[in-house]
Amino acid sequence: MAYELPALAYEYNSLEPYIDEQTLRLHHDKHHKAYVDGLNNAETKLQEAREKSDFALVKHWTRELAFHGSGHILHSLYWAVMAPNGKGGGGKPDGDLLRRLETDFGSFDTFSKQFGATAVAVEGSGWAIFAASPLAKKLEILAVEKHQDLTQWGCIPLLTVDVWEHAYYLKYQNRRADYVAAWWNVVNWPEVARRWTAADARR
Ligand code: FE
Repeated sequence: MAYELPALAYEYNSLEPYIDEQTLRLHHDKHHKAYVDGLNNAETKLQEAREKSDFALVKHWTRELAFHGSGHILHSLYWAVMAPNGKGGGGKPDGDLLRRLETDFGSFDTFSKQFGATAVAVEGSGWAIFAASPLAKKLEILAVEKHQDLTQWGCIPLLTVDVWEHAYYLKYQNRRADYVAAWWNVVNWPEVARRWTAADARR
């Protein structure tokens, strides 16, 4: 079964002015599509290897599987945790998720400062990820510099910001911090809370 590029739940221009239409079109239609195609190709090559019982290139195709698979998963999460400002996007979480954030990080303000600093500090291409740890029963902020190498196995990503240059360069050029600051205006906290509940990692 082939992987497919997920459709956006909002219009390409509906995250303006925080995420511009041209960036969103390129990012979703070209960059994410390339991960989906790469993931499907890796799956096909590994299927062929199994059929021929020829695993000479298994290291290469397993790396491709991890690289494109991680790209597909993280981009799918990134689209899902954004919404137009005022229509689900922006503000702050409430209820259980807010209380848990306050327990684990002190306050929402401290959480958002640490998350923003993490996103700005990622070297090169990467991601900041807000995740639930079922093992530790707590919330974590992680940085990913090579997304095929997740930094805490078992953590379930709840929210992510893409800080690869293609996510912001057309509008923000080298000002990644400005992009991250603007991005909070389109964070879909109800969706983050839904994912946290589904992660069953609340205690
Ligand atoms: Fe991206």
